[in-house]
Amino acid sequence: MALPSFAVKPYDYNSQWQGPMDRALSSWNVTPTPVWITKSSSAPNSIVAAQYPGVTWFGLYTPHGSKPGRYFDIKLNSLNLSKTTYYFDRFVTQVLVHELGHSLSLVDNPVTSQRSIMTYGLDHSLYYVPQQYDINDVNNYYG
Ligand SMILES: [Zn+2]
Repeated sequence: MALPSFAVKPYDYNSQWQGPMDRALSSWNVTPTPVWITKSSSAPNSIVAAQYPGVTWFGLYTPHGSKPGRYFDIKLNSLNLSKTTYYFDRFVTQVLVHELGHSLSLVDNPVTSQRSIMTYGLDHSLYYVPQQYDINDVNNYYG
């Protein structure tokens, strides 16, 4: 994404998914970041939760096109995510917050000793929203 403010297509899932997914969006909409994620039926960006067999990933971010018209889709793999019964809702939120991080230009496993939502293996029962490092990172990128 070229901009920290964008819309995604509305999605409609059962309450087990909808709430945790909405929480991921709203958890990025915090001051002091320039991030503002909304929903709009005309948005080019999409978030889809579905069963993707034969793969190990929980979430997948895929950009399309080039800046400034770049858009993305995010896939949540319900097949793999559903294997987790331990704080399932927070796991869904954590994975979507992470994938949205990619849409905000953040990269995997940043070189830092601080906690980051972009690091693999973060305990999702405790850390499932953007961390201070991530907020600083976004502010640095768009500031
Ligand atoms: Zn990632």
